Amino acid sequence: MSAEKKSDDKLITLKNITKHYPISSGSFGTRKGIVRAVDGVTLAINRGETLGLVGESGCGKSTLGRVMIRLEKPTEGEVRFNGKDLISLSRKEMSPLRNKIQIIFQDPYSSLNPRHTVGRIIGEGLQIHNKGSRAEQAQEVKRLMGLVGLRLDSVTSYPHEFSGGQRQRIGIARALALQPELIVCDEPVSALDVSIQAQVINLLLDLQKEFNLTYLFISHDLSVVRYISDRVAVMYLGRLVELASKDELYENPLHPYTTALLGAVPTADTKTRKKRTELSGDVPSPIAPPRGCHFHPRCSKAMPVCSDKTPEFKEHTKNHWIRCFLYDKKAKAA
Ligand code: SF4
Repeated sequence: MSAEKKSDDKLITLKNITKHYPISSGSFGTRKGIVRAVDGVTLAINRGETLGLVGESGCGKSTLGRVMIRLEKPTEGEVRFNGKDLISLSRKEMSPLRNKIQIIFQDPYSSLNPRHTVGRIIGEGLQIHNKGSRAEQAQEVKRLMGLVGLRLDSVTSYPHEFSGGQRQRIGIARALALQPELIVCDEPVSALDVSIQAQVINLLLDLQKEFNLTYLFISHDLSVVRYISDRVAVMYLGRLVELASKDELYENPLHPYTTALLGAVPTADTKTRKKRTELSGDVPSPIAPPRGCHFHPRCSKAMPVCSDKTPEFKEHTKNHWIRCFLYDKKAKAA
């Protein structure tokens, strides 16, 4: 871990973020319910670090990432980037900050315009924000292509002429064009072969070192997250349930959901294997999440209090946060 990554200089902070989507039906738009995609997340990412965000599909990871970069407005809560409250900014005020916050998507193909050349895709941000003359922009596009390992003579090629890994490199070059500080990487390697995944992850790590980038790395793959992250947050049905440094989380997981997720990752270490539990059933619907601890219907350690009250997210030991009554003496005794 670099010195910058150990710093406590918060680049982005989320306070009590909630994102609910109303479900309406009929011609009068009668409200039928609410999808509680994100439910009260408080979190900070330090400058230069990678925060891994893990959890099963449908647990709200991508929604949280989109709210973080203001692609979506939260229902409630506060997002501060470099101390500035992003939610209260107008479109115009938000525009210069857009450069600083970028996103890389899971499916590089659908996020690239098939009718545009690679040069145009990578240089689009430079054009929109009037960064330099046409010649300078063309030069910058070539520099970015070299940086991410794309052949310079492919500048006039179209996305369909590239492999999946190369398309993700195009997505990364596009994200880098405006010299961002924060990049939300939303399952950026899930659609790639394992050998290509490693290349893209190593590229992200190299670029981070070179430009002191900060990443939110969203993934359901715990092995990939372990490789790239400094700290890891675990999310379940819209809430954070555990947050710790990578080493602490993988060597000393506490929340039953985390141990169950890790149970699905192959390991040769028998001590680690013994600690693990199995994860059964599916994630319940975020339209009607279970009362109390959302995880209680699937938890092998559930107690009567778990279906009645919601555990708080508390710091159990230094920098190791957990939401579980097993680590709350008062609740356990009640
Ligand atoms: Fe399991 Fe209860 Fe902890 Fe929830 S609060 S994870 S149900 S033990």
